[in-house]
Amino acid sequence: MQHRHLLSNEIDLLLDGEVGFGVAPLRAHADDCAECRARLDEALVVADALERLPHFAPRTGFADRVLSQVQIVQPWHVAALDTARRFIPESRPLRAVAIVGAGAASLAVSASAVWIAFSADLSFQSAAFVTSRGRDALVTWAGRAVEAALGGAAVDAVRSNGPMAMVAGVVALVAAVGVAAFGFRALAANSRQRGN
Ligand SMILES: [Zn+2]
Repeated sequence: MQHRHLLSNEIDLLLDGEVGFGVAPLRAHADDCAECRARLDEALVVADALERLPHFAPRTGFADRVLSQVQIVQPWHVAALDTARRFIPESRPLRAVAIVGAGAASLAVSASAVWIAFSADLSFQSAAFVTSRGRDALVTWAGRAVEAALGGAAVDAVRSNGPMAMVAGVVALVAAVGVAAFGFRALAANSRQRGN
């Protein structure tokens, strides 16, 4: 028998019915020491009471019901990707059509940009035709679009043909993008209706 009282963790060992090396001396002490015996009995009462408490379990779907009310902030790029994914058809033939369509659309955009670049008047020769402010904005925008699509060399290669040509080019570009977007939407709706 050891010559000190039991520690809390040692009482826990006895409560759990551990039978490892070193538990026997603890048991022996508890048998001989009235104070430790009392503490062990108290702990047994508490453990017993805890064991008899009703065991609660959540109803099925509890986690789903909670999570359905949790506001999850979705980063914009994740939302954008999800939206883009909804437009991509699931079936293989439709997907091929979509890829071809995307290629055609980007080609149309590029071609429009090239046309703008070569027909737009970026040299301010006809500044009187359009108010200079709107024109500046348009020229800057068209220049950036061309630069993004074809690189800086295309901007350098711009020729002058009058602002009307430039405006027509911008309209063509916007129309191409619009038609492409509308086409994809129709394609996606069609694929959803078919359920594949
Ligand atoms: Zn003791």
